[in-house]
Amino acid sequence: MKVIKFGGSSLASAEQLKKVLNIVKSDYERRFVVVSAPGKRNPEDTKVTDALIQYYQNYTSGNNVTENQNWIIERYQSIIEELGLNRTILDNIAKAIKSLATLPIENNDFLYDTFLAAGEDNNAKLVAAFFSKMDVPARYIHPKEAGLIVSSEPGNARILPSSYDKLENLNNYSDVLVIPGFFGVTVDNQICTFSRGGSDITGSIVAAGIKADLYENFTDVNGIFAAHPGVVEKPHSIPELTYKEMRELSYAGFSVLHDEALIPAYRGKIPLVIKNTNNPEHPGTKIILEHTGKDIPVIGIAADNDFVSINMSKYLMNREVGFGRKVLQILEDLNIRFEHMPTGIDDMSIVMRGRELTPIKEQEIISQLTRKLEVDHVEIQRDLSIIMIVGENMKSHVGVSAIATKALSENHINLTMISQGSSEVSIMFVIDSKDEKKAVRALYNAYFRK
Ligand code: ASP
Repeated sequence: MKVIKFGGSSLASAEQLKKVLNIVKSDYERRFVVVSAPGKRNPEDTKVTDALIQYYQNYTSGNNVTENQNWIIERYQSIIEELGLNRTILDNIAKAIKSLATLPIENNDFLYDTFLAAGEDNNAKLVAAFFSKMDVPARYIHPKEAGLIVSSEPGNARILPSSYDKLENLNNYSDVLVIPGFFGVTVDNQICTFSRGGSDITGSIVAAGIKADLYENFTDVNGIFAAHPGVVEKPHSIPELTYKEMRELSYAGFSVLHDEALIPAYRGKIPLVIKNTNNPEHPGTKIILEHTGKDIPVIGIAADNDFVSINMSKYLMNREVGFGRKVLQILEDLNIRFEHMPTGIDDMSIVMRGRELTPIKEQEIISQLTRKLEVDHVEIQRDLSIIMIVGENMKSHVGVSAIATKALSENHINLTMISQGSSEVSIMFVIDSKDEKKAVRALYNAYFRK
């Protein structure tokens, strides 16, 4: 059986919903359908989730909310009318949207989540009604009924492990089940959402729960590209990717799938495929546990900016027991997360995201390193980018990094730092942000176009 999740752009209009229906109909194993809220129909449009945020803000500020309500209801109405669905479904949705503005504002930690979740919840009702009308027996199922029980962390829910047993019972239904994505219910019966974009997480949880053979995530691109299409012209879509590689790529800015969505499917050993609703014949990108072959060493190139490095040096640093621990203790005391730590014999750099290092924290670190650890030199280097060359099969290939360094040197790009973890899933270069795009293009050409 397959779990199939559709993102907001796949559900933005009646026309898109017809494509969704055909996709579900074309494969009898597509029995569990997870849906997002209607997304944008064009770049200027507003996502229903964002409209719900505005509605929430006006409601909690005591403003008139009629306009907000009408906009959201009309959004569903236009889809319902174009699909020729029964009037009762629209009445039902209108009532649900309006009733949000009757919920208590005071002492209600879950109010925001309840507003947001209404986008997917009502869309699931709509999709189930549409499928049934088109002779695909379907049933809307609320996360509470499905057994999707989550932690009480508004806006950042986590699935409770005990949910999985209950979710397995979904296999007993014979209809296609339409499940709203993005939220679950706490043990106290409160609606609690995952972080933004969290319908991907629901899909992954349901796939693990029902022990699906495949989790299909339908979006509006032909899978995951080997480099950012805004930087490299027409990059190819990666046919096959391991979970580890996906994690590396998404760390460095690839955002086709929600980060947390990989975990349940990975733990449940469920393969995942990212496909395009507007081009369902394209095989898309398959995310699997292990590669089927060993021939392709590099599968993608990712880059991310706004990194900062604290560079320090001290003569005979390598002989000083506990030096590294003391440096990291300073960071921990200031609640700073670091990302990478390249070292030399007498020097050490700590690379972190720029937002971690506020001016006050920066001053404090410099002062402590100088006073307490008596470093000879310390400097803060800003405007850095990381470039990641990703591929698990690098392990069994010689000369992968040589291709990269040659390409970068030919393009006069200076490497500030190089780092590779012991698992050899990726090689990371730190460079000046001004060279980021040029570096990605040079590396893409070197690995994939020659
Ligand atoms: N509708 C939610 C959002 O816009 C969740 C999702 O689409 O996955 O964040």
